[in-house]
Amino acid sequence: MPLSDIIGQDKTVRRLRALAESRRIPPAMIFHGPPGIGKFAAAFEFAKAVNCSHTEHRDRPAAAAAPDPDDLFAAPAPAAAPEQAAPLKTHADLSDSCGMCLSCRQAASGAHPDIRVVDTVFQAAFLDEDESANLKIDTMREMTRWAQQKPMLAPWKIFIVRDAEAMVANAQNAILKTLEEPPPGTLVILTVSRKAALLSTILSRCCLIEFGPLPEAALRTILAAQGADPAEAARLAALGGGSLEKAAEAGAFIKRVSALRPGDPARAFKFAAGLPRDSHQAREEVKTLLDLLLSKTRTAWAGAEGPAKDRLTALLRRTLELRRMADRNVSYLLLLETALLEGERAGLKLEDLIRTV
Ligand SMILES: [Zn+2]
Repeated sequence: MPLSDIIGQDKTVRRLRALAESRRIPPAMIFHGPPGIGKFAAAFEFAKAVNCSHTEHRDRPAAAAAPDPDDLFAAPAPAAAPEQAAPLKTHADLSDSCGMCLSCRQAASGAHPDIRVVDTVFQAAFLDEDESANLKIDTMREMTRWAQQKPMLAPWKIFIVRDAEAMVANAQNAILKTLEEPPPGTLVILTVSRKAALLSTILSRCCLIEFGPLPEAALRTILAAQGADPAEAARLAALGGGSLEKAAEAGAFIKRVSALRPGDPARAFKFAAGLPRDSHQAREEVKTLLDLLLSKTRTAWAGAEGPAKDRLTALLRRTLELRRMADRNVSYLLLLETALLEGERAGLKLEDLIRTV
């Protein structure tokens, strides 16, 4: 997939293509924006575009074994296939990857020696330990050591530090020098959702590339390409708030609510009991529920009159307040129970939240 196939980030992709074409690549870059909007995919495609040679690569035909002089029945060596002589194709668009050169083909196979992804999965393999939430100093030191080596295949040696906010402070300090005085031909791209988690010394050394939430239509197209049927893609895109990650959370949420029996008086309790064990994920799911409650309340409010409208106005205020509290350290179970109770009091049941308007 070249940069031109990235959906929903048109302005940013134009900027990246202009940089790739100019060949004046900043040696340290930060791709930042909300989670689940394609920052990593863009970083990888940009790395491919920067390292692309724009000339077709053909595998050499396997060398024919020399005929055995004592074997009178040896078949004569086959003549070279005529297509081998055809001139190599070239790719005129220098702002994007070609998909046919050796570098592009290596990148597509996941085995490019000069494009390396540094993340917690790599770290677990490198340090031979369980995956950790943080990127440690030893991992980032290894990256700086690689950065000193010459590229093996392509013009640039590119490191993509995925979710770079996972770097602990001393790990961030360990890459400062590489960002400040990068060895020739080195490019470091940090992808981050929370820029504030990076040291100011890191931020000031990098070129910032901003990514925004995906437009709903773009999200729908991506979800459909991932196999969702059109109705499901439309529903998840509407709930996804511009993020593939949020859309996936909404999908999991819908599945769980759908499994509850409508009218079961204990369904709110059962829903709470089924929240993910990981407290961060559980909190994210409660936020998804509050976002759904907000959007349903707004819709119902617009069409309501009289006392029902007053009840919905109160619910809207209360849900907004709960949503703000969800970003702070308030118990997410308490928020969930309060939201479900108040929703039902105003006539919005748990199963109403996932109904498509
Ligand atoms: Zn290429």
